[in-house]
Amino acid sequence: MRSPLQLDQDSIVALATPPGMSAVAILRLSGVIVLPLIIPFLRFPSGGTVGSDFFTPRMLHRLNFIDPDHNAILDHVLIVYFPAPFSFTGEDVVEIQGHGSPVVLSRMLEIFASVGIRAAAPGEFSRRAYLNGKMDLVQAESLMRLIEASSLRAAREATRHMEGDLSERLKGMRHELLTILSHLEASLDFSEDEIDPLGTQVLKGSLMGVVERLEHLLAHSLAGQHLRDGFDLVLVGRPNVGKSSLFNRLAGKDRAIVTSIPGTTRDLNEFRLMIDGVAINLVDTAGLRRDGCEIEREGIRRALARMQEADGVLFVAEAHTGMMPEEEALLSEWSGPKTLLVWNKADLLPPSPTLHSNRPSWLSEKFVEIFVSCRDGSGLEDLLGAIGQFFTHIPADGEGTLLLVARHRQALMRVQALIKECIQLIIDEMPEEIIVIPLREGLAVLGDITGEVSQEDLLDLIFNTFCIGK
Ligand code: GDP
Repeated sequence: MRSPLQLDQDSIVALATPPGMSAVAILRLSGVIVLPLIIPFLRFPSGGTVGSDFFTPRMLHRLNFIDPDHNAILDHVLIVYFPAPFSFTGEDVVEIQGHGSPVVLSRMLEIFASVGIRAAAPGEFSRRAYLNGKMDLVQAESLMRLIEASSLRAAREATRHMEGDLSERLKGMRHELLTILSHLEASLDFSEDEIDPLGTQVLKGSLMGVVERLEHLLAHSLAGQHLRDGFDLVLVGRPNVGKSSLFNRLAGKDRAIVTSIPGTTRDLNEFRLMIDGVAINLVDTAGLRRDGCEIEREGIRRALARMQEADGVLFVAEAHTGMMPEEEALLSEWSGPKTLLVWNKADLLPPSPTLHSNRPSWLSEKFVEIFVSCRDGSGLEDLLGAIGQFFTHIPADGEGTLLLVARHRQALMRVQALIKECIQLIIDEMPEEIIVIPLREGLAVLGDITGEVSQEDLLDLIFNTFCIGK
């Protein structure tokens, strides 16, 4: 059990399934003693009263839930009892499966409130699980990431962290730093002795090893970020080349379109494609035209900015007209994100093998080119394949990628900076009592990530973002 944080003694309840009408809804209760509080409202289908000893742990029991005001059956329910400590929160947990009637459920919540079981705050179940040592903070946060995952790959990543993959790696690093710290602290106790130059070299080497490992973690966490939020693929091109047609074609092609993208201001011209389990946010932009009115110019400015920030670009041009001078100028200087050159309106090309004279040869050296027709649908499968190749090359699950939430990233960057500071102090031959200062702080920050040493306000910050019932 984690100290010095206080454990809550009161019992809590929350709807664990989404609100609204549904076939089945689950109410989850947790508390140091929770079963005796709800027993008075339970009856056997035959009408007989139920005793606490009736419940076999982790087994479903079919009972009736009684409204005490009318002594009438409120719902037929299935109940599972998870006695402490073998439950999600580590306390006594009861799950009640009832019918998904909002009025019945809210009446049950009222009844629970009357016996002192209060509504849980967001994330309170997970918070209790953490406080009872059922999981560390990284695992708790990964659980939330799993619920919010936008793609299967992201969900798998989150599960891996929930299983403790990241926590294990951080623990390894923490252990190493602790060993170094204890070595330095020990030499502090024998301050008359000279600093052993060989010893400090070894320490420096170990610290540099940790810095490298952190660098690796941070570098690969970018891919993790993409797994969670998806890749941005921006459609650009002159007006009328068929960007909107292509956008609609691709939207129609994919059956797993998620229409709302959480966390972004949803543009009407943005949707999410799923290719091989990776989320790709396709963004349509205003046409690129040099002249035009003020509003158009603003649209173009935004399109170019979006293009720079994107993870990939679909540059659309007309196959039958070939490249216009302004397109050529833009692409010849193009050094932005990876770009696929999409020649649309291939249906208008003459049947001869020579496509058109207006297509500079350097283009094919610089870009992957795909011919499509939004009119007859030809080439679209090839285009989807090429888009997939673009983004699905990210390393497979396992060592390669890492889904780090912003809090972990910032903390790891801070630890890295502190260890570098420590290395510099060793190089500058500073006394041990100075060298240990950033090292101690680095260890504290590392401990904060998994919650080994955590503050109440940090916990509030984390768990308040959770959904209720989790
Ligand atoms: P945007 O301004 O780039 O978004 O272009 P639109 O998607 O609005 O298309 C401009 C015009 O080109 C429309 O009249 C479309 O019907 C037409 N168009 C789009 N794709 C094709 C295509 O593959 N072949 C032909 N022949 N016409 C197309």
